[in-house]
Amino acid sequence: MKHFYPDYYKNFKCVAAECPDSCCKDWDVVVDDDSQAFYETVKGDFGKKLKNLTAVDGDGDRIFVSQNGKCPFWNSQKLCDIFTNLGEEHLCATCRSFPRISQDYTLFCEHMLSFACPEAARLMLEADKNFCYQTDLCTDKSVDYNVDLMNFLLNARKFTFEVLNNLTLPFAERLRQSLAFNAEIQNRLDDENYSPFDFSQFTDVSVTSHKSDCTFIFGLHKRLDIMDNSFRGFLENASSHAYCGKISDRYDKYFSVIAKYYLFRYYLTAIDSFDVLSAIKRIVCAYIVIGHMLSSAKDLTTEQQILVIQRYSKEVEHSYENSELMEEEFLFNPEFSAGHLLKLI
Ligand code: SF4
Repeated sequence: MKHFYPDYYKNFKCVAAECPDSCCKDWDVVVDDDSQAFYETVKGDFGKKLKNLTAVDGDGDRIFVSQNGKCPFWNSQKLCDIFTNLGEEHLCATCRSFPRISQDYTLFCEHMLSFACPEAARLMLEADKNFCYQTDLCTDKSVDYNVDLMNFLLNARKFTFEVLNNLTLPFAERLRQSLAFNAEIQNRLDDENYSPFDFSQFTDVSVTSHKSDCTFIFGLHKRLDIMDNSFRGFLENASSHAYCGKISDRYDKYFSVIAKYYLFRYYLTAIDSFDVLSAIKRIVCAYIVIGHMLSSAKDLTTEQQILVIQRYSKEVEHSYENSELMEEEFLFNPEFSAGHLLKLI
């Protein structure tokens, strides 16, 4: 299997106690079987603590029981008691891997970092090299998915990347072109027609942008399971700003990075879902919500801007229920149709 990594990947190092929004808070940590088997062998007071502070949740997962919204092993020095007492190698798989994400497509595996980690978000947003996976087209047909479809998706993703990367245009225009192009890709997926065609003729967006009301996008985000009240406050402010203000193009550089992150993280999932538009609609949502959050807040430092983007990912992406709700809306709510979204950007 071939593995693909972005350049910034190797530079990631957890900043632990210096982290401004640790992954040790807000989330339940799911403990894998191997780690649990080891924890059951730990003797003494720490062994008792491990036993007392793990439980099986409503989904049947074994988790560390959070205390005041924090991992019970995250101590007052903002360090991990498991790391300190047992060593890094005995962190459970969830903690060992975060924020690294691996997307395994049998013939190849693409690796990336999650925006939900502030240090990973900083690395991605500040990287000076423009990153794109150089994933080869597949020739081996011995996999349990349709290789013609995968190659069609890889070509369409590469073209979408090129559209998003056309820095001669404002980001909003690049996003409109990506959406228009992928509406055509979606038509072809629906018809199971994976033959090559001239991609470039479908980026010509004839729909005039009316900058219509985007209340429904904020409405969807307010219905998500939001963990942090200050994020809810940001959401409210941004929602009011969306009535009268516009998204400043001074954040276009950030949006280019965010859009490519969503593209690489979600686009190829269409190999199972046959839905490429969800990945692009996620970019539209992130652009509208983060765009109004940043544009409505005055005098944010660069660090604060990065935290707004990181928090959006932590709140929106890293919950199965939130993802399910968003994808349902994308599929069935006509306000989220490609045609309606094109008028909005
Ligand atoms: S969010 Fe990232 S930098 Fe912060 S504690 Fe977790 S892995 Fe480390």
